[in-house]
Amino acid sequence: MSVTHESRTGGPTLPQERRLVTPIPGPRSRELHERRAATVAAGVSSVLPVYVAAAGGGVLVDVDGNSLIDLASGIAVTSVGNAAPEVVSRVQGQVAAFTHTCFMVAPYEGYVEVCEQLAALTPGDHAKRTALFNSGAEAVENAVKVARSHTGRNAVVVVDHAYHGRTNLTMAMTAKNMPYKQGFGPFAGEVYRAPVSYPFRDGLTGPEAAARAIDLIDKQVGAGNVACIVVEPVLGEGGFIVPAPGYLSALAAYAAANGIVFVADEIQSGMCRTGAWFASEHEGIVPDLVTVAKGVAGGLPLAGVVGRAEIMDSVHRGGLGGTYGGNPVACAAALGAIATMKDLDLNARAREIGDLLTARLRDLAAANPAVGDVRGRGAMVAIEVVQPGTTVPDPAMAARLSAGCHQAGVLTLTCGTYGNVLRFLPPLVAPDHLLHEAMDVLAEVASI
Ligand SMILES: *Cc1c(COP(=O)(O)O)cnc(C)c1O
Repeated sequence: MSVTHESRTGGPTLPQERRLVTPIPGPRSRELHERRAATVAAGVSSVLPVYVAAAGGGVLVDVDGNSLIDLASGIAVTSVGNAAPEVVSRVQGQVAAFTHTCFMVAPYEGYVEVCEQLAALTPGDHAKRTALFNSGAEAVENAVKVARSHTGRNAVVVVDHAYHGRTNLTMAMTAKNMPYKQGFGPFAGEVYRAPVSYPFRDGLTGPEAAARAIDLIDKQVGAGNVACIVVEPVLGEGGFIVPAPGYLSALAAYAAANGIVFVADEIQSGMCRTGAWFASEHEGIVPDLVTVAKGVAGGLPLAGVVGRAEIMDSVHRGGLGGTYGGNPVACAAALGAIATMKDLDLNARAREIGDLLTARLRDLAAANPAVGDVRGRGAMVAIEVVQPGTTVPDPAMAARLSAGCHQAGVLTLTCGTYGNVLRFLPPLVAPDHLLHEAMDVLAEVASI
């Protein structure tokens, strides 16, 4: 593999180009896919079955030598790029020193340092405490455990179109049936769903949408029974929905007035993705608890719950933990990723990427009536595909656009309750020319 290009990360990376040398997927990928079918569970699927050999900057290079433009970042994970130099060097150092002791058995500095960093970066200057886990779903589960322990209440309020994970409790919290819940019940109890703010579809102001949600909570659950309200400040899997201004702050104020723990699930929207450390900042809200995962550790599995000290510390000793939570290698990766975010000012870069993509997508929408909405924050951008002139979802068209991009060497993802949203979340170290090229490809596919 030729390693020539000096990226803005200051380290060697792959040529930043789209290069197709075979059809997608190529013969070697197809071979691996057959091998996979005989051994990997069918329930685990892949958006695009090109098998990856290397990745860095804004590209994925497959086993056939194709170089694809990456607009997925492994679902908002490799924001600092794949194999980012600071992540690689710290991981290498840690893995050679020790790989695991279990923080609950014999602790180490990296865990503490990650908690210090997350306390400094999350909204609010109150005293905070953090616990580390392995996955986003595990962080959400633990946020609920903490909120229940603190309040002595049971009910969990989530919103329409929410995505919080695939474990039993988080399946109950997730809105969408297929593919996340179908056949996997019974689900955890005491989970209640309130209406979200979805400006493209409901036409409500933020305060109006919040009043509708609060009315449901009051009438159907009772504020005094609610342990926590959990909401994604920008909804991810549900369709990159940005609630109207004032929605989140009204919910947060209602929570504060009623002794309810307000939890921002920032697993997808956090860590520079939206042009801020956390998307809550755009709305000026200070959540009681924040869940963090995905982008935090440059691709290694790490998650956390960061929250008000008095809430987090209401849990009895030994009540939180897990064998691998805050693994030293994952912590080293997180420290490398956070250092990279600061060094390269990836918040500013996410805003630039957002401006670039949004401008290109608005042009696309002007030329193509199937693009009903262009929305997002920072480098968390999406288009909603509809039947022209309506808000009727057109998932078939969204799938066609995404498949066309894949064939042309641009890795896009769809999302949304109706499956009709194309989302764009490139690594924040992807160069402009690749992003423009990806938008050229999309425009070309959309014009056919
Ligand atoms: C991805 C995601 C989760 C679940 O994270 P996993 O690491 O896949 O368990 C939870 N909440 C949000 C908002 C997510 O985007």
